Amino acid sequence: MTAGGHGTDGVERRGLMFVLSSPSGAGKTTLSRLLIERMTGLRMSVSATTRAMRPGEVDGRDYLFVDKARFDAMVKGDELLEWATVFDNSYGTPRAPVEAALSAGQDVLFDIDWQGTQQLREKARADVVSVFILPPSAADLEKRLHSRAQDSDEVIRKRMSRASHEMSHWAEYDYIVINHAVDEAFAEVQSILKAERLKRERRTGLVGFVRGLQGQLQG
Ligand code: 5GP
Repeated sequence: MTAGGHGTDGVERRGLMFVLSSPSGAGKTTLSRLLIERMTGLRMSVSATTRAMRPGEVDGRDYLFVDKARFDAMVKGDELLEWATVFDNSYGTPRAPVEAALSAGQDVLFDIDWQGTQQLREKARADVVSVFILPPSAADLEKRLHSRAQDSDEVIRKRMSRASHEMSHWAEYDYIVINHAVDEAFAEVQSILKAERLKRERRTGLVGFVRGLQGQLQG
């Protein structure tokens, strides 16, 4: 999956797929929101899901809320770049908006689990940059899940018991950020994105840029 866009320094480069994963409650949603607000050239991939809408969520902004029949039709129609079952619900990334963003030279931010990350990596390894967010402690994770107050106690218990399983995939990720404080974690995630944007191998316009420079120097 390639795309031609321009970096902030004007040199053409391929768009990248920036993946944030974590056990729920580790602060990934806040970090994603801050990235979208504060970084230019980055678009959020809005996933489709069969899970029920939580209070405060908006259809089309947080997720595309679909029923199982529609989700299955999306899978069958090859409309999803990746998909997985998480907490008994289906989640998947609609392909078309991602491809449109990448070919317009935008980077795309994904808030998806390890199963989805594996699938993206298989499809577009060179373009995927993955970050795993860890909570500083189990107590901190539990506190955050409770303070969200969006899920029932039973759902929270289930999420806590799944957290350890989800965390077991940390070593498959390119970067690990421990979210002690959201400002620091944000600064770290932002640095990763900024550095990855400068990677030589995705800066397709560099050969021409350097040739141009050399031409000017010699002429
Ligand atoms: P939640 O229900 O709390 O919004 O999300 C539950 C989990 O599903 C989170 O770990 C989130 O990253 C993951 N998730 C959300 N959207 C997708 C998706 O499109 N694909 C995959 N594989 N996981 C997703």
